[in-house]
Parts: sequence; structure tokens; C-alpha cells
Amino acid sequence: MAEVSTKLDQAGKAQLKRLLHYSRKNVANAKTDQITKAFHFCILAHGKDLRASGEPFYTHPVEVATIVARELPLDSATIVAALLHDVVEDTDFTLEDIRAEYGEDVAIIVDGATKITDVFKSHEITQAESYRKLLLSMVNDVRVIMVKFADRLHNMRTLQFLSKARQERMARETLLIYAPFAHRFGLGSIKWELEDLAFKYLKREAYAEIRNTLNEKREEREKYIRRFSRPIRQRLKDLEIDFEVSGRAKHLYSIYNKMIKRGKSIDEIYDLFAVRIIIKSNNVHDCFVAYGIVSDIYTPVPERFKNYISMPKKNGYQSLHTTVIGPNGRKVEVQIRTQEMHEVAEKGVAAHFKYKESTNNTFVEDSELEEWASWVRDVFDNAGDEAPEQLIESFKLNLYQDEIYVFTPNGDLKILPRDATPVDFAYRIHTNIGHHCIGARVNGKIVPLDHKLQSGDQAEILTSKNQTPNREWERFVVTHKAKSHIRRHLNEQKRRSQQKGREMWERKKKKLKLHINNDELEKLVRQIKHDSAGEFFFALGSGVVDLDSQTQAILDIVNRKQTNTATSSVEQFKGFTEKARTGGAKGVNLKDTGSTILYSYARCCNPIPGDKIVGVVTVGMGIKIHRAGCSNVLALKDQLRARVVDVEWESIGTKNFLAAVQVRGDDRTSMLNDITTAITSIDDTNIRSVNIDSNHSHFEGVVTVYVADKQQLGKIIDKLKQVKGIVDVHRYVG
Ligand code: MN
Repeated sequence: MAEVSTKLDQAGKAQLKRLLHYSRKNVANAKTDQITKAFHFCILAHGKDLRASGEPFYTHPVEVATIVARELPLDSATIVAALLHDVVEDTDFTLEDIRAEYGEDVAIIVDGATKITDVFKSHEITQAESYRKLLLSMVNDVRVIMVKFADRLHNMRTLQFLSKARQERMARETLLIYAPFAHRFGLGSIKWELEDLAFKYLKREAYAEIRNTLNEKREEREKYIRRFSRPIRQRLKDLEIDFEVSGRAKHLYSIYNKMIKRGKSIDEIYDLFAVRIIIKSNNVHDCFVAYGIVSDIYTPVPERFKNYISMPKKNGYQSLHTTVIGPNGRKVEVQIRTQEMHEVAEKGVAAHFKYKESTNNTFVEDSELEEWASWVRDVFDNAGDEAPEQLIESFKLNLYQDEIYVFTPNGDLKILPRDATPVDFAYRIHTNIGHHCIGARVNGKIVPLDHKLQSGDQAEILTSKNQTPNREWERFVVTHKAKSHIRRHLNEQKRRSQQKGREMWERKKKKLKLHINNDELEKLVRQIKHDSAGEFFFALGSGVVDLDSQTQAILDIVNRKQTNTATSSVEQFKGFTEKARTGGAKGVNLKDTGSTILYSYARCCNPIPGDKIVGVVTVGMGIKIHRAGCSNVLALKDQLRARVVDVEWESIGTKNFLAAVQVRGDDRTSMLNDITTAITSIDDTNIRSVNIDSNHSHFEGVVTVYVADKQQLGKIIDKLKQVKGIVDVHRYVG
């Protein structure tokens, strides 16, 4: 940026002089060089632009800076920023130019002020409450709001040059947004001025009536106040208390509100007479002395006494309020406070800051401002009973940065937590918009779904019928609503896929006549790299894996076990650890030859004499004897089917065949005892193990017994069926 220097005319010189005067007076260590430089730059940047009034545009920022220096003095950066607050918005210079020349602080304030201007320019206020929150959420530096107050105040003071429509719009905004804020910040005089100016343009007739009446009666009023004050002045002088007494014009908007509220004409509003006593010494004790004097001279109206000195208002306001019966029986409102309390009442937190600073006599550091900012936050936190209900609520919710406010294309505001993305915004609008969003247009630009939205953004969600929530979204969404909807959708989707996969598997199983139960499947799918049967079904149903190849892989495992090892793929009998018995002479023989062969009994189906059986020729382990209907035999692939040979039982006397019986029924005391008694009542039967699981009133279990043949097993089953409470008994088939 080139060295800034402009030749000031007479008016310009006077304006600069006035600005520097207030800066030096109200700001500690005012950086007059910086302010002077910014003053010149402001004139240069706005060039020949004119205001609606016909004046050069630069007079506006200069006035705003002067309001800051005179009425809201904080630090030099705020004054410089006030001079530059419309540069980015209205000229070719950029925020980077300002940052390079005036530093980060000034740039932040100008940036904040510009963003607020943008939002208010492009949207009609439909939800005042949300707008107040929006404004706050955009303020990341409290100095921004001071500049905006000053900006608004000057615009309101010069509103007469705008069209009627713009006057009313700006007045409405002021009344709904800026005045409540000024109040909350404790900026009494600015709040009153903003309200009166807004009132003037919104209720023109009522405003004129009240103003005229007050003017007509001014002389009478002033005369009365002098008469009322005379004895008070005398008594305070006698006590050598330094004070100031003034008649106090009540502001017009509050008179109007009282008239409306009480349904009275202006003549009937009694408390137009108001007196303020300011104790110059700042001695709080003297306030109570003055109160004593007033009450001694005039009769107080008891219920009208308020001690805001001992119990300050939430925005820091301190004063004694009383109403007394003055001459001619008229009620007069009296306020008594110290000079410091008075300044806090008029300038709010800015005055508080000033006093704090002068008593500490320290340089204005960032940490000081931080402290001040936190004090402001406290004020917000403790927003008192005199504020409208919703306003209090908004302050509780919102301390500057936790929430953002985003406009819909219709101009509605949606509240979202910080870091919210277009997906959060979409779900905030409607679940279906969330489910189908593919992108967003934010302030006219297309952004990805994980883009972080900012307060004041206008966002439009782009959707597609074919879009559905995906797992990736869970990584970046921040709202509970978005999270839970995405999760619910994904779970539902998974459930459906699992269901589909399960059905695919069942159909396949039926077609191939496979006998693989749930427990077996659970183990088998782990060997083909699925975590569980559920995951296996999900993979099938969602098309991640192919049904035929998976089935083949499962059959391969089953067959490998079948043919290569002596153990079955399934340990269906709990506690069954005995090795398959191998024998040579007895048991079974090959049907055709009658010769005895090396064989063993398959543990997957545990054949017993009487069962229809087949043999499967294995490599190096002789023949494995299965029941003819064993699912593992049925599942053998064609090339292995050739190894199946017919076998039959020889007449053998051994009682050493293991068989398992599954029983189900209603659980009750001594059920287990009744089961074992029933089994052992059959001759030559030994129980190997009993495994019973009971679940509430039901039980289910497998009893493993040694039997000689199928006939003996049949007797056991019949006996068990007679046990009271047993509903189902059958031979356990893996
Ligand atoms: Mn401005």
C-alpha cells in the first residue's frame, strides 16, 4: 500500500482534530499516528463516493470513529477499525491490505464488522431472536460490536436522507437487534438514543405528539424542578458534598411504552418529573446521605424505593431510586448515584473498563481486554429478569462461538453447533434431505459435504434420489440428529442386507440338501474370513462376496475334514473327546465283499448299529463310517462321491456306541433327575454326559449315552418322552 497522504481541507482538519482530541482524552496511550494515518487512508479509499445526504462518504466512518472515541472508548485499534470499517465492503481495498498496514487486531475487527453488514444487508429480519444470536455468534472480538453500535448510531442519526422504506427497515432492525444488545452491554445512553431514533421512524405520529408535549411543557417542568431541587442543594452544600443536580428528560420511547402499557395519555403519565443527583466524589456513603436528605424534605412513596447500589442490576447498573411527593403533591422520581456509577450507566462496560484501567494505571494490554470481554460474558451469562425471556435464553445458550446460524435459501435461520457441515444442515432441515444430500451450495459456491459452515452462511442442499447415507459421513457430522439418523439408516440397511444374505444361504442350502446348522456355520464362516455368520450374511446380501464361491469354499472345508482327518467339522456333543474308535475285525463290513476292512466311525453323525450307513474311503485312514443321511456325505463333490462305498453292520455285541439325544421341555425342579432316571431305567444303558441349558422356564439339552444299537436308543427316547414336562425328544443330528 502506498504511503497515504491526502491534503485535508478546512473541514477535514477540524474533524481529525476532534477525533484525536477524544482519542487522547479517553484512551490510554492513544496511538495518534496510527489514527491519523487511518484517517487519511479512509478519505483516500472512499474517494469521491457520496452518502445519501450528499456529503462525502468518508464523513460516515470518521463520525463512527468519533463516536467510538467519545462514547465507547476502548483502545486505538477500535478507533482505527471504525475509520476503516466500510473499506472492505465499499472500496477496492481488501482485508489483506488492512492487515498488512494496520495489523491483525484491526483486520479482525474490520472483518467482523463487514460480515455483520453483509448478513444484515442480504436478509430481512424475520426471527429477531435468532438474529440476535446470529449477531453474537459472529462476534469473535467484542470490539467488533462496539464498532457496529457506533456505525448503527450514526446511520440512525442521519436516517432522514434515506427512502421511507429503508428508514423503516433500519429502524426495525435497530429496535429488534441493536437496542437490546446495547442494553445488555449496559450502554444506557446509546440504547435510549437508538430506541428514540427507531421510534421516530416507526411511529411518526406518536413520536411527534410526545415530543411536542414535552417541548410545550419544558419551561414549566424546568421551573418546577428548580423549585424542587433548591432545598436539597442547600442541605448538600452545608455538608460540603460535591454534587450535581439535573432535571432529567425521560426518553420518548419509554414514555410511549408506559402510555401503551397503562392505556393513559401523556398528561396522565405522572413520572415525567425526574431528578438525578450525581455525587462527584465517588463516595458511595454520600449517596445514602443524599437519600436521607431527600426523604427528610419530601415524603417518599415507600414501595418505589430501589437500592441498586447494594444490589446492582445484572448489567452492572448501580443507583438509588426513589419517588417522593414534591411541591403541589406531584410525584418526582429521584435517582442518586456516584459519578462512576453514572458513567457505567451511560457507557456500560466501556466505562467499567475505563475505571478499572485508570485505577490500576496499567497499559491497555490484550489480557486486559480479555478480562473485559469475560466480564461482558458474565453480564450475558447472568442476563437478569428485566430482559425479555427469550433474550435471556439466547445468552445462556450462546457465548459467541459455540453455535453458528445458517440461512436456508428462504432466509430462515437454522441453529447448528460449531463445525457443523452441510450434512448436519441437511438433517436439520429434514431427514429426507439429509439422507439424499450429495453436496451444498454455500454463498453461491459448491462445497463438499464435509465443509465446515460459518455463521451467516447461506446454504442450499443439493440432493439426489439415488444418494443414501454412508459410513464416511459419520466421520465429520457433529449434530446428534445427523449422527443418529445416519446410524439408524446404516443399521437398517445392514439388517436388510443380512436378512437378504440369510435367505440366499438358506435357499442354496436347501437346493444342495446341505445339513449345516447355525453353530457349524458360525465356525465354518470364520475359516473363510468372516467374523460371524451375521457378517457372512451381510457380505452376501450386500453383494460384497459371491454366494457360489462362498458355498464352494465352505464345502471344500467340510469335505477336507471329511476325507483327510478323523475329526468331524462339528463337535456336536459337548464333552465328547473320545477318539474315533478304529477297529479291524468287528463292526461293519463291505457289503459286496464281506471282507473286514480298516474303518472308523465318523464323529459328525455317530452311527450306531441299526442305522443305515455308508463308508467313505479316505486317504491313509481306511474307511470312515457315516450314517447314510449325514449332511457331510451328501455334500461331497462329485469326484469324491466315487469314494462312497456301501457297508452294513455285522452282528456285534459291543455296547460302546455313542449316541446323543436332544431333549426340550419346561424347566422344573428335579427335571434333570427325572431325565437320568428315565434313561438308566433301560437295561445296559450308561450316560456319558448331560448338558442342559435352561432359559427362564424352558430347558434344552443334549444327553450322550452309550448304546448297543438303534433299538436300544429308541427305547431311551420313548422313555424320555414320558417324563412330565418334556415336549420334544429326538436323536441329535449334527
Ligand atoms: Mn458504516
